[in-house]
Amino acid sequence: MIDLSLDDSIQWVKGVGPYKAKLLERFSVKTVRDFLYLPPRRYLDRSEIKQIKDIKVGEEVTIEGDVVLKSRRKSRKNILIIDIVVYDGTGMITGRYFNQDWVYKQFKKGQHIFFSGKVDYFRGFQIINPDYEFLSKEEKKLIHTGRIIPLYTLTKGLGQRFMRKTINYILNNVLDKVDDPIPSNLIKKHNLITLKEALQNLHFPLSKELITKAKRRFAFDELFYFQLFLSLRKKEKRKKKGFSFTVESNLEKRFLSALRFNLTNSQKRVLNEIKKDMKSPIPMNRLLQGDVGSGKTVVALASMLIAVDNGYYSVLMAPTEILAYQHFFVIREFLSSLPVPVWLLVGGMGSREKEEILRDIHKKSGIIIGTHALLEKDVKIPNLGMVVIDEQHRFGVEQRAKILQKGSKPDTLVMTATPIPRTLALSVYGDLELSTIDEMPPGRVIPRSRWVKKDDKRKDIYDWVHREVIEKEVKAYIVLPLIEESEKIDLYSIEKEADLLIKNFFPDLKVGVLHGRMTRAEKERIMDSFRGREFNILITTTVIEVGIDIPHANIMVVENADRFGLAGLHQLRGRIGRAGGKAYFIMIARDDNITENSKSRLSALETTTDGFKLSEVDLRLRGPGEFFGTRQHGFPDFRFFNPIKDRNLIGRVRNAVNEVLINEYEDKFKERLKTIQKASEFIDIG
Ligand code: ADP
Ligand code: MG
Repeated sequence: MIDLSLDDSIQWVKGVGPYKAKLLERFSVKTVRDFLYLPPRRYLDRSEIKQIKDIKVGEEVTIEGDVVLKSRRKSRKNILIIDIVVYDGTGMITGRYFNQDWVYKQFKKGQHIFFSGKVDYFRGFQIINPDYEFLSKEEKKLIHTGRIIPLYTLTKGLGQRFMRKTINYILNNVLDKVDDPIPSNLIKKHNLITLKEALQNLHFPLSKELITKAKRRFAFDELFYFQLFLSLRKKEKRKKKGFSFTVESNLEKRFLSALRFNLTNSQKRVLNEIKKDMKSPIPMNRLLQGDVGSGKTVVALASMLIAVDNGYYSVLMAPTEILAYQHFFVIREFLSSLPVPVWLLVGGMGSREKEEILRDIHKKSGIIIGTHALLEKDVKIPNLGMVVIDEQHRFGVEQRAKILQKGSKPDTLVMTATPIPRTLALSVYGDLELSTIDEMPPGRVIPRSRWVKKDDKRKDIYDWVHREVIEKEVKAYIVLPLIEESEKIDLYSIEKEADLLIKNFFPDLKVGVLHGRMTRAEKERIMDSFRGREFNILITTTVIEVGIDIPHANIMVVENADRFGLAGLHQLRGRIGRAGGKAYFIMIARDDNITENSKSRLSALETTTDGFKLSEVDLRLRGPGEFFGTRQHGFPDFRFFNPIKDRNLIGRVRNAVNEVLINEYEDKFKERLKTIQKASEFIDIG
């Protein structure tokens, strides 16, 4: 017998070999250790198996019986319906599958099977899309002796029996070699089971309770390593030397006293937090969260001015040209009485214009506003002291890193209006300082939000918009769900759609149309006209989603609202009601052909205006993978830790990390920490 170790290739395990090892790679199982951590898809527990005579509608059950009938037919709406009828001696139940032709062949009359799922009633008991399992005699015996048996995800060539034999062999031969990273005092304190117990019970649980405990233990470990990694990195960063700014700044004082409003308490608090960082020689690495419209820009501007007053340059990077242009416009206005130059640098500029700006920049320190264009090689920024990244989740890791490389250890402030839930922020942004503006400026109106579910209401809606625009002189956005920055079809369709809307509902009005495929000059002209009096209705796409600030726009109608994400809709809603009066946010989406998920999103928006609460809903609806996948460019690969279910572990793990000597772990778990680093580059902004 070979002396098997955890890092050996899985092919050396008895009964595996190179062919099956290759198949196992599909489940990311390459080593013995990988298999140990491979969670079963689910378990079959004898206590869960019910007799059909005892089941109730709505229950999750597993039943065991013989296939007595199978049928396939097309419904009137041309949906393929497959019915598998099972009899267990006490009653019958139908398993029903829609449009999954391949399922039909899986079942044979007389076959002994297990069905699991939620019980429904339609002319008899049925389960829609039941999970099914065929077990060998030997396996059935295992269940009937009262064991809980694991069921793994399979692929062609790998059966349950093979999986179970293999893991059994591994547990018997290498479990002793597993080293528990958590010291025994902490295991006790946090009510954990040992790693060995957890691994054993993940695969061959002695009770259901132990499955839960095993999973909790793995979740704890995952978070533990991750927090450990963040602590180490934070320690590393503290060693760097950056600028120590003088934060008593005349420019900043003059700016604040010239504002036509006072900062909210939240804004003041956050500005002080930023100042503390700016004063300290450790480079600032701060995330500023604040709901749409909470006034992040003013705070950022105040801190940029401090850097300028110290003789440094500040950069503000925005994700879109429209937003950069708007920042430029607004900031220049704010600073009109101060001797601070403001430059704009975006991609659409001609090279002459650009060269001129780049030359001009070198004359006197000031504020540079721009888009990705700032990242280009020829953009050299002297004395870069402060970098502000607006809507940071819109940028990739490399882009954030690149802008920082334009200087030597500038202070960094990243801003986001799509916050992640607080508890989660603590766990994933562990090495960032976190500031939150949790208060809206006074006078901000909360838009009344309504989800219009029927298409035939559209005319009423637009007639009403028409009246409001004429009688009350409000401005209205109409947003169409077209994907920006992509191909010609979109251009064609937005123009066609806009024409239709105008012809049908606003033939007598001047209506602007704005989309991402226009040139910068065109976009600027249209936004200016909308800001001014030239027209009161703007038909547009999500180009206006982030940051756009048109004070008197108080109505927004979103067509096909189900095609937007929750965060996107909330951002859109933040564009209106910025200057008092009443504001209305109307989402049009037929409720008869959209998913349950879409319905939940739209209902949540109808009833909730708090961005933090909405982000929790969003996280719950989409799950962490999706939530972070699209928004944050990747997320540490947590297999067991679920930020919602395991939220109460977060605090515990933070404490645990503070209680161990992290230096020891740094050496001992180097490899593991390295993988985490790779997986979590997205949060590495400083
Ligand atoms: P966001 O946090 O979404 O970036 P902005 O910084 O664009 O918000 O601010 C939204 C609007 O509120 C701007 O017009 C800004 O001038 C205004 N504003 C910011 N702070 C205050 C305040 N304390 N009182 C009144 N208005 C404010
Ligand atoms: Mg903003």
